Amino acid sequence: MKTIIVGGVAGGMSAATRLRRLDEHAEITVYEQGPHVSFANCGLPYFIGGVIDAEESLLLQTPDSLWRRFRLDIRVNSRIVAIDPATKTVTGTNVLTGEEFTDSYDSLILSPGASPRQLTIPGAQRALSLRDVPDAVRIKDAVDGIDAATAVILGGGFIGVEVAENLRHRGMQVTLVQQAATILPQFDPEMIEPLQATLESNGITLALGRTAVEVTSTEVVLDNGQRVSADLVISAIGVTADAEFAAQAGLRMGTAGGIWVDENHRTSNPDIFAVGDAAQKHNVLTGSDQMIWLANLANRHGRAVADVVAGVDSPERDSQGTGIIGAFGMVAAITGLSEKGARFAGLDYRVVHAHPGSHAGYYPGSATLALKVIFDPETGKILGAQATGTEGADKRIDVLATAIYAGLTVDDLMNLELAYAPQFGSAKDAVNQLGYAANNVWHQRTPSVQWHELEARVAAGATILDVRTETENSEAAIPGSLLIPVDDLRARIAEVPDGEVIVHCRVGQRGHTATQLLRQNGKNAHNLDGGYLTWLAGTESRGRTQRVLAFP
Ligand SMILES: Cc1cc2nc3c(=O)[nH]c(=O)nc-3n(C[C@H](O)[C@H](O)[C@H](O)COP(=O)(O)OP(=O)(O)OC[C@H]3O[C@@H](n4cnc5c(N)ncnc54)[C@H](O)[C@@H]3O)c2cc1C
Repeated sequence: MKTIIVGGVAGGMSAATRLRRLDEHAEITVYEQGPHVSFANCGLPYFIGGVIDAEESLLLQTPDSLWRRFRLDIRVNSRIVAIDPATKTVTGTNVLTGEEFTDSYDSLILSPGASPRQLTIPGAQRALSLRDVPDAVRIKDAVDGIDAATAVILGGGFIGVEVAENLRHRGMQVTLVQQAATILPQFDPEMIEPLQATLESNGITLALGRTAVEVTSTEVVLDNGQRVSADLVISAIGVTADAEFAAQAGLRMGTAGGIWVDENHRTSNPDIFAVGDAAQKHNVLTGSDQMIWLANLANRHGRAVADVVAGVDSPERDSQGTGIIGAFGMVAAITGLSEKGARFAGLDYRVVHAHPGSHAGYYPGSATLALKVIFDPETGKILGAQATGTEGADKRIDVLATAIYAGLTVDDLMNLELAYAPQFGSAKDAVNQLGYAANNVWHQRTPSVQWHELEARVAAGATILDVRTETENSEAAIPGSLLIPVDDLRARIAEVPDGEVIVHCRVGQRGHTATQLLRQNGKNAHNLDGGYLTWLAGTESRGRTQRVLAFP
């Protein structure tokens, strides 16, 4: 049996090596259009920044090493240009010599990935993009060689932000131009704000809500006429599935833009499979089709498709989308649906924010996390979560991703038995604490108000009641709020006006205590979810220009 694999990196190489382990006698040929297979795409920004020194460190395997260990027949610099499903053959071109070749298969696995989306504005040819090792070398050489001092990056997605951080490490003046209102719009605005603030405090200028309309020899011109100096221009405006040759072969394309596949990664042709960035995913939470460009899924599906080809029964499940990014020590991570995503999918949902410490506050180095969970108000099932902070966001998002995988409810988060010693967590871990807060909201013990609802509620006559200390209030406060510290509230309850009262503290915990106290004394009290910190992050993100208070 002969299997041909198109694309020799994440999905393709996972498929090839797994297939060999399952079938010592299979004939496996991998065609890769680039000069390298099995390279570390995810490390490329860090090579540009000098964090990863040597180009060789990015090359995890070579055709030789793969032949020695796995007897894989790897053909680099070989681009597949056509598939003929009727004769089960592929046609390709050697990109160095122009020579054509054909080959035949019993099974064909496509993992060609996704290409940078083409920039189409005047002067676009000066913009460099980043997909593979030669691209990274080109950008690194440009930074080294032309004495570049200023860089403009178009696109504030994962790659744009990572490249921005790394060019800043190289001492460049960096402007990040992002069409959407925030960077990384898959996050909700209040959750990505700490990363935006971190980028700016490290000298990166964010041009949010802006697009580039022209690249000149020295500048990038924005849609408001602003001209930004740019010795180097990087285009990171997204990717598109490398699926043209598959479409030309008559394979069905999915509604989201990639190659349509069933739950066994089989395309509309029974002998052809597709995985990775080029293949459409099915979202387990919404039931809808979606493109998800992440390495975990490419690797996981690459391994799984080998099982299918080898006839091994291997349980699979749909995708939920889990991603993480870090820059200058700040981490933002997401799993499942954002609030925006849930709204877009037409789902009813509830939201809870919490700001627990990354580990016990008395042990040095504890940092405040921002956690958010989105859940189904009927079943309590977790639909999505986000985590931001300088420490501990990564492990919390992985717990929450596992919780979604297992179909857990927010009540289950309270009961998770998580590892604890003071340098790693708290006896009530951050995830447990998120569960406690969500439990109170889900079971309607503490009705809550979201940061973005506050303005309208105040306009309708609600009073904002700050229950923090006088010191905290004097440092920074929500305009128009009334201060009664939680410890004085019983004695001063007569001062609390009738009508709706929106209680807030720093993170929502004292607010919950105060809300309970007030409600049990007949007041119409609601807790500002996530407290002052969530309100501040959301407000700053919404209008980065009207920043009145520094992010703590
Ligand atoms: C700079 C960068 C940083 C990233 N960082 C992260 C990260 O931190 N975390 C994360 O989860 N994901 C990250 N990703 C995304 C991740 O790398 C991809 O999701 C993953 O590699 C997709 O695997 P794939 O096999 O579908 O495609 P790829 O790994 O891109 O491999 C596809 C290969 O197929 C080749 N090919 C395409 N067409 C043909 C053809 N017709 N014939 C022959 N060969 C062909 C391509 O040259 C390419 O080498 C990053 C991507 C980039 C570019």
